[in-house]
Amino acid sequence: MVERGVAVVVEDDDDIRTSLKEVLLQSGFSVFETSSGSEGVKAVREHNPVIVTMDVGLPDFDGIEASRRIRTFSDAYLIIVTGRVEEADALMGFEAGADDYLTKPFRPRELRARIAAMLRRPRSISSVPGDRNAAPRALAAPQPAAPAVPAVVDAPPAPAGPVVLCDFEHRGLTLHEGSRSAAIHGVSLDLTRTQFDLLLVLMENGRVVQTKADLVRRLRNEPYNTGSFVTAGEERTVEVHLGNLRKRLGDSSRSPRWVETVRGVGYRLAP
Ligand code: CA
Repeated sequence: MVERGVAVVVEDDDDIRTSLKEVLLQSGFSVFETSSGSEGVKAVREHNPVIVTMDVGLPDFDGIEASRRIRTFSDAYLIIVTGRVEEADALMGFEAGADDYLTKPFRPRELRARIAAMLRRPRSISSVPGDRNAAPRALAAPQPAAPAVPAVVDAPPAPAGPVVLCDFEHRGLTLHEGSRSAAIHGVSLDLTRTQFDLLLVLMENGRVVQTKADLVRRLRNEPYNTGSFVTAGEERTVEVHLGNLRKRLGDSSRSPRWVETVRGVGYRLAP
């Protein structure tokens, strides 16, 4: 079995923790198990995992807060595992920098699919594993989970100067695929992996509408024509990520500069 690196499981339910661990071990990860928010954050700091699964209801502080703390120093692929049906957890998780979420009852097949998708997608090169001072996320500043605060105003991570490399440009928004960087008028944007991937697809395709299913498949790195099954939950996940992308861009859904919604169909780049 190929060694994929380290996974950290944060989960206070013994049975679920064991199941998560089993799937991750089978997928080739070494697994560190923790059962509280503080242990989880500590384990991520010590072991520099590639992937983290994060329960929401934990005995000390919740998984959303733990995710937010982890995001200040780690670029691990972070999956929220929530027992609640409400989408609020997932929404807050994405606000806190999560890449994906799973709902309980947890199904091993779903986690395997998430892992497979993660492994097909490139890691952001902006991350410097183990260096907690590298590229702190905009969400590092502790603030309540009040949504709709555009993160664009946050200072760029490093005085790297204006971004000159770009593959795509539209109304001052530039994107460079190789360095996985995006900027507005030269000011770096702090995007999650998924937000970057979505923006890339939209900029690549311009005015050609991307359906939510197209975007889900693209995030799985599947070609469009596979017609593979996409669940309503996955489409909803894409909606949430796009909403967060908009916030990061400081874009408006009513009069978009960049991300235009085509009602009932999908999304495309604004004219
Ligand atoms: Ca729990």
